[in-house]
Amino acid sequence: MIQAGQSARILDGRKLAAAMRVGTAAGVVRFVGEGHAAPGLSVILAGDDPASRTYVRSKEAACREAGIRAEIHRLPAATPEADLLALIGRLNDDDGVDGILVQMPLPPGVGARAAIEAVDPGKDVDGFHPVNVGRLWSGERGLVPCTPSGIITLLESEGIGIEGRRAVVIGRSGIVGRPMAALLMHRNATVTICHSRTRNLPAVASEADILVAALGRTGFVTGEFIKPGATVIDVGINHVTDESEAARLFDGDPARIEQVRHKGYTLAGDVHHAAALRRAGAFTPVPGGVGPLTVAALLGNTLTAAIRRRGHPS
Ligand code: NDP
Repeated sequence: MIQAGQSARILDGRKLAAAMRVGTAAGVVRFVGEGHAAPGLSVILAGDDPASRTYVRSKEAACREAGIRAEIHRLPAATPEADLLALIGRLNDDDGVDGILVQMPLPPGVGARAAIEAVDPGKDVDGFHPVNVGRLWSGERGLVPCTPSGIITLLESEGIGIEGRRAVVIGRSGIVGRPMAALLMHRNATVTICHSRTRNLPAVASEADILVAALGRTGFVTGEFIKPGATVIDVGINHVTDESEAARLFDGDPARIEQVRHKGYTLAGDVHHAAALRRAGAFTPVPGGVGPLTVAALLGNTLTAAIRRRGHPS
């Protein structure tokens, strides 16, 4: 519901993701035209977490659309860690596999760290392997985690300057917060990383020209965190099942309340949507902001891995 005083420009992640996917598909056509087999992505899905199944299905469909071969290795929840590591070893040795992705979370008893470290860094399309983490922080060429990489593409394509700006990243996970901070720093932002022990978080956050919220707390970032006119990037994906909470976060938007009533939930980010609309200069909605960029960046990483392994198209 549009109300007086709302001014933030909405950053449309869906539109950019579609363009990124078209670009990757064109790159795949060129690559294949040079005589290479189509890039191949192997996804390992262990256990039966419903959200993971949905993510893997959407990654598979996106690969197909971009001309990337995707194969899904489904393992039972009770798979011993040694079997998972043996599968990763076989995929590392398989020349037809350019990218390997181990869908998280893994079932109890299977170590995520061991799985991540078992993947060949050249095929690590998630960018989680310590070799790629080290390359990222030291500014060397490697494979970069998909969500922060997609966010940088969004900022650049929207003409939002990074150099010399103050950037605050709330959250320090290896998937989002830390690589996000590294990418912003390499583009010459002055970066502050915040976390659960940060004191006076609203005051720190409100110094940011670019504020990235990746903490996993629904609507946590309210108006007092946002410098007027700042760019606010909302990474959070949370299910809101309560109508009154949906009304509070979305300024009484009837469409959101209807969603809760009929679907049982509406998706919300870590940023208070209505507050961001009022105070930010630009911001990413949930859904339709950062989410679609992650899969688009994964396709790009798979093509990049294939090109680096097998020579590049002209
Ligand atoms: P994690 O749980 O791994 O990390 C959360 C981070 O937020 C931690 O560093 C934690 O601090 C910090 N944090 C938690 N509570 C607070 C608080 N009250 N104040 C300040 N900092 C806090 O989450 P992820 O990074 O994996 O994900 C973050 C969000 O992004 C989630 O909502 C997730 O669903 C979403 N996500 C979305 C993606 C997309 O494609 N759009 C992709 C990946 C994630 P500390 O280190 O001190 O514990």
